[in-house]
Amino acid sequence: MALIVQKYGGTSVGDTARIARVADRVIRTRESGNQVIVVVSAMAGETNRLTKLAADLTDTPSEREMDVILSTGEQVTIGLLSIALDARGCAARSFTGSQVRITTDSAFSKARIQKIDDSAIRQALDRGEVVVVAGFQGIDEAGNITTLGRGGSDTSAVAIAAALGADVCEIYTDVDGVFTSDPGVVPSARMLDRVSYDEMLEMASLGAKVLHIRSVLFAKKYNVPLHVRSSFNDKEGTLVTREEDIMEALEVTGVTYNRDEAKITVVGVPDQPGVAAKLLGPITDCNIIVDMIVQNVGTDGHADVTFTVPKADFKKALSCAQEAARELRAREVLSDDRVAKVSIVGMGMKNHAGVASRMFELLSKEGINIQIISTSEIKISCVIDDKYAELAVRTLHDGFELGKEPAVAENT
Ligand code: ADP
Ligand code: ASP
Ligand code: MG
Repeated sequence: MALIVQKYGGTSVGDTARIARVADRVIRTRESGNQVIVVVSAMAGETNRLTKLAADLTDTPSEREMDVILSTGEQVTIGLLSIALDARGCAARSFTGSQVRITTDSAFSKARIQKIDDSAIRQALDRGEVVVVAGFQGIDEAGNITTLGRGGSDTSAVAIAAALGADVCEIYTDVDGVFTSDPGVVPSARMLDRVSYDEMLEMASLGAKVLHIRSVLFAKKYNVPLHVRSSFNDKEGTLVTREEDIMEALEVTGVTYNRDEAKITVVGVPDQPGVAAKLLGPITDCNIIVDMIVQNVGTDGHADVTFTVPKADFKKALSCAQEAARELRAREVLSDDRVAKVSIVGMGMKNHAGVASRMFELLSKEGINIQIISTSEIKISCVIDDKYAELAVRTLHDGFELGKEPAVAENT
């Protein structure tokens, strides 16, 4: 008897008819002789609706109270799915994050899971019940409700799979699997049968929201096979797995984009040791993740430092940068929140310079200006004007011929 964790995203539980279909699938899995833990998201649009309610009252809602509000979305779904299962004669029991005792740190709205108590879930499984757990939420040591960041139900599912030693974690969503690029933007995107944890990590962190980044980190760390598939059909989907299980590393596997970052430039900072730390230290101290950082070559003893931060933290980061700029007697602070980051990802990106120059050439042919470039072993990212994001993604995808089935080489 296998233990299977199934996670259903917002669209898959978007209305009661869809919840009923999820119940049917869970029962089929159960009847094939498996134990099932189901992790669900809020119904489609619900988390946004709840966010807007608070925004009607203030621009600066308390982060603690936001988590109290947002966690209710998932609570509705676990109740509805358990009722649907019960109504079909399948014993089921719902659990919120706090009822399971999913302990997180206290970083409201982006909490990290620290510990999962498996006892309540195990007892329910031993009673023969299907366990239905609210994704995206936990509690901190003090008992406050926390949430894990948008898209965080994937992470709940994988963390639960790891804690209970599940055989597989299936992520049911509204597309057939992981594609070479967002199929909603790139019509020629091709579904990947397999993708390595590392490639998936890069793709998720660079904007492929099909999986929450920390879910992939957990899956890699605890060796949980991740299976991404559609809740609307029975296609095989994509297996996210160890690199050794992938036949051949491609030069470029996927193209992603991310519109969630904003750019800040501090112009004319003294070109001296310690300046970057003085500028960025206060921002990272506020728990803001600084992503790309570039400093141009200084002229007349001054340099410009440009960096990107999540749009959600833009205002806070900008005021920190303005304060630091005053202290450093920098000339001015410029900002732009209409930027996008497009990236290409591939384990087989051995000839970096060649791949990069091809990327730049493809963008320039479309008249797209590159504002910042950053690279790692398996990715190249460019920040561009937001209005060209989709054009850039399609251009790169088709320029690198990712829609074509790769030829299988001999002796690999
Ligand atoms: P869920 O609500 O099921 O968690 P999400 O909306 O979070 O679903 O993620 C699925 C969406 O991710 C798809 O509808 C698709 O538009 C988007 N997406 C972005 N990049 C990719 C990719 N490389 N492969 C598949 N889907 C992608
Ligand atoms: N409901 C949350 C969101 O919309 C979490 C999730 O769906 O994974 O972001
Ligand atoms: Mg999601």
